Amino acid sequence: MIFTVLTLFSEMISALLTGGIVKRAIEYQYISVESINIRDFAKDRHRTVDDRPYGGGCGMVMKPEPVAEAIRHARKKHPEAYTLLLTPQGQLFNQGLAQKLADQPGLILVCGRYEGIDERILEHLVDDELSIGDYVLTGGELAAMVVIDAVTRLIPGTLGGEYSAEEDSFSTGLLEYPHYTRPRSFEGAEVPEVLLSGNHAAIKEWRRQASVVRTLLKRPDLLMDKHLSSDDIRFMTKLQKDLKTIMGNHSTAS
Ligand code: SAM
Repeated sequence: MIFTVLTLFSEMISALLTGGIVKRAIEYQYISVESINIRDFAKDRHRTVDDRPYGGGCGMVMKPEPVAEAIRHARKKHPEAYTLLLTPQGQLFNQGLAQKLADQPGLILVCGRYEGIDERILEHLVDDELSIGDYVLTGGELAAMVVIDAVTRLIPGTLGGEYSAEEDSFSTGLLEYPHYTRPRSFEGAEVPEVLLSGNHAAIKEWRRQASVVRTLLKRPDLLMDKHLSSDDIRFMTKLQKDLKTIMGNHSTAS
């Protein structure tokens, strides 16, 4: 996967490349990340990349010409790449979208600054708009880094043999089960017995049920779109019965 980031702040992108999974993915050539400075495509002697908005108002707008030139340059180098404009007005980024983007041969990520980029860029030169959440950042670089990080870990091989993204939260449509490591007892809190049992079937069942319960408690909205297995339904029906019994006992008591 080739990531090409079009930005006015290339140095921000460099920070992502210096450690962890992304650094290793570059070393093992699963991915490459190139930053292109949009300012290099400004034609005037001051290398101007922004101007006042037509119609008045505060802030500056990124001029279309340097951005268009930068996109054309990147597309010429990587004609197969999918071009995304990072903007708070775009489609919301999530794990499903990260998975789809991981199947692309390349991504060109266009980062705005100031009040954003001249609208005509969006109309003619990008494939889609992407937002990383309903809040406004000062620039698209952090958003581009989020996309690079989330997509990279889904490219087969990048996580190494010891770890798989398959059971991560959202990949299965559920939140992931809780994790524990040594010590067995920490400040009075014990590791659940089943995880020490060596019984793989029991551990698998406990993890699945823990996933279902966590999702129910923390993100019930995820369960609406989720195809639950018959085991899950059986487990949730039992949970419902237990809850009814507990509630019933309390209402009798009061
Ligand atoms: N005036 C714009 C608006 O209200 O929609 C916001 C511009 S923002 C200050 C500057 C740049 O930051 C945007 O062009 C975009 O590239 C980036 N950005 C800000 N928030 C973002 C988000 N939630 N997701 C992706 N990119 C974002």
